[in-house]
Amino acid sequence: MKSIAPSRSETPPGLVFRPMVWYGKKVIESVRLESRRHALFLDFDGTLADIAPRPDAVRLSSEVPQVLAALQHKLGGAVALVTGRPMNDVDALLAPLRLAAAYEHGAVLRTRDGEVLRTSAPDLHEALATARVLVQKYPALLLEEKSSSMALHYRQAPQLEKICLHALAPIVTGRPDLKLLHGKAVLEVKSSRVHKGTAIAAFMQQPPFRGRVPVFAGDDVTDEAGFLAVKQMGGVGIKVGDGPTAAKARLANPQALRQWLIDNARREHTS
Ligand SMILES: [Mg+2]
Repeated sequence: MKSIAPSRSETPPGLVFRPMVWYGKKVIESVRLESRRHALFLDFDGTLADIAPRPDAVRLSSEVPQVLAALQHKLGGAVALVTGRPMNDVDALLAPLRLAAAYEHGAVLRTRDGEVLRTSAPDLHEALATARVLVQKYPALLLEEKSSSMALHYRQAPQLEKICLHALAPIVTGRPDLKLLHGKAVLEVKSSRVHKGTAIAAFMQQPPFRGRVPVFAGDDVTDEAGFLAVKQMGGVGIKVGDGPTAAKARLANPQALRQWLIDNARREHTS
């Protein structure tokens, strides 16, 4: 894979890149967050938190809520989560911190003021019925029924990937209102009208995000829509982990991302 490190001329104002060697490639190690300039958007699983065998088995390092609170203060409140998880899940893991957040890949937004905005849920009856039959037949599968989407996890049985895909793909074909996302050991069926890019764009219309440069970190294919959105807004995507991406920067793993957050939270306020 070719290097994704940008030339200096591509560096947006206020962002400092330091190349490092990672897996033999030059990648961008640091994007320096400035207190009056940047807005920060973060995916959760595989980005803030290490991937776990099951979504409910995820454990978050104890320093994460503190670091996020410090960054929220530093960036004037312009910090939001952008996750595929439903709302209550993430709140419980970050308590007592409550950030602005997009849940279910942008189908549910909670603003900085706590207002919850939901897009109308698509008809998932057929997808859910199919997934329930699969789970009954293969107990190693895990079905998450969310308010506006559903996720079928096969992390405990990766050999079932094709069976799940072949069962769900035909349901989405011919349904322009639905989108099938193929993430890390998970298939999700959601509305095609929203994605992580629309969620970030919606936040960027509102204070305290409006007028800032968006920086978005994520690890999975579902984050690519977010990377494209921030690119269009003059911001920076940070891909966590390996794989092709539209993101401009890359960090090796969630641990590296957490360290980057800690470094930025500790840095003196600059404008
Ligand atoms: Mg993720």
